[in-house]
Amino acid sequence: MTKTEADSRAIVHALERLSRLMRGAEFGEGINPAQWEALRFLARANRFSNSPGALTRYLGATKGTISQTVKALERKKFIEKTERPGEKRSIVLTLTQAGRDVMARDPWNALAASCDALGGKTRRRMDKGLAELLAQEIARRNDPSFSACLTCRFWRAEGRSEDASGPHLCMLFDAPLSAHETTQICIAHEPRA
Ligand code: SF4
Repeated sequence: MTKTEADSRAIVHALERLSRLMRGAEFGEGINPAQWEALRFLARANRFSNSPGALTRYLGATKGTISQTVKALERKKFIEKTERPGEKRSIVLTLTQAGRDVMARDPWNALAASCDALGGKTRRRMDKGLAELLAQEIARRNDPSFSACLTCRFWRAEGRSEDASGPHLCMLFDAPLSAHETTQICIAHEPRA
């Protein structure tokens, strides 16, 4: 290793320490770390993924733990449970206005601001490096990728331009996707080959 070459162990230690510090900052607002993670997921999940089942897969927790987390967030009025239209036994979890307001005070927003301040080149390299590490870990564990449509093999830019919910198309669900939905994360995402 040359003097200027980054030490891989040092990067791993920095990631661990950074996660620990951020977790420590998550006890404000009367919300614990698991509840913050659930709120962040629901703020980013698309309409095929805003369910207790998808949340359980994303967090890799047990059904019982997720059920407790969901109940606590409902009690605090940060989320609401509704029936999925046309699917009586399927539940949709949605952030309330209070949930969206508290997300604006998410302690991780400060870290995002620090990333902004790093400058374009460093940020692009970090984004690429972290995305590669994350993809490797996901593949090793055979977990869903939970990414957004633009990198999914089922996404088509064209196909529903006449539809008010379009203009994009999801080939898997045979459903229109708006430009906003294209940026949300999905339990059924499969990376392009
Ligand atoms: S295109 Fe892929 S990521 Fe987007 S909704 Fe369809 S399955 Fe999910």
